[in-house]
Amino acid sequence: MFATEFINFNISRAAPIRRTVEAIHGPKPPKAGVKSVEDSINEARLQCFLCKLTEKRVLLRPCNHLCFCEPCNDTFQKQIPLLCPICHMHVQSFEIVHF
Ligand SMILES: [Zn+2]
Ligand SMILES: [Zn+2]
Repeated sequence: MFATEFINFNISRAAPIRRTVEAIHGPKPPKAGVKSVEDSINEARLQCFLCKLTEKRVLLRPCNHLCFCEPCNDTFQKQIPLLCPICHMHVQSFEIVHF
């Protein structure tokens, strides 16, 4: 008799706490390992134009397009003429972006 009461007490105490956690952190995130389309697009946006492996780090000026990672930008800088691969504007300088 006493044991049953104890279990009921625990359940009634736990439920409101769980509800509070969901209110703070929002609904549970989708299962790990299942990528949404949005995630894939965001990743593609961040990937370097040349190697497609590393995050883009170098901003081209004056067009402000983010195109290459640092090692690939070293390769890109040797090209003549130096044109942005996105808008084909003449690149005058580079800026390393720190997230
Ligand atoms: Zn790269
Ligand atoms: Zn550009």
